[in-house]
Amino acid sequence: MYIRVSEIHRDGLDVVANRGKAWIPRILEGMDPYPLRTCRLLSAGLVLTLAGRDLFAEGSFVAEGDAFCDRCTEAFRVTMEKEFHTVLVPRDHGPAGATNVELHEEDLEIGFYDGAGVEVNDIFWEQVALALPAKLLCNRGGCGCSGERAPGSFDILKKLKEEKE
Ligand SMILES: [Zn+2]
Repeated sequence: MYIRVSEIHRDGLDVVANRGKAWIPRILEGMDPYPLRTCRLLSAGLVLTLAGRDLFAEGSFVAEGDAFCDRCTEAFRVTMEKEFHTVLVPRDHGPAGATNVELHEEDLEIGFYDGAGVEVNDIFWEQVALALPAKLLCNRGGCGCSGERAPGSFDILKKLKEEKE
């Protein structure tokens, strides 16, 4: 769903309140959810606000997908939940605009938009892609797993982050 910048008023635009919920299950249509087999949004929220020409996208989603366990190959269901805060800078602004925002809001993700409007499905697509699990492991007791495994890159990153904090 394409939202024009001109549709976003001073108080922002609550996309779901404005456009209804019927489009939510279709947001991820056409997406390759690898390593999942299927993936769909169960719920989604998104508020767009403008600060100058920078477009703030604050939203959340719950997504559900089907996968095969990497360990025992059983089919199981994965649920992903995420809140996100992204600022989309007009492409013609160049990197200077993005740098300014980054200095003030460290936890913001930075993206780009064409300056006229934004494809909302792409925002969710990107956020879901970021939330996709790197390893697919079911929670079955009979999985046959000893519980020991070599640390993956995610674990190493997590450990580094914990040490930093
Ligand atoms: Zn398993």
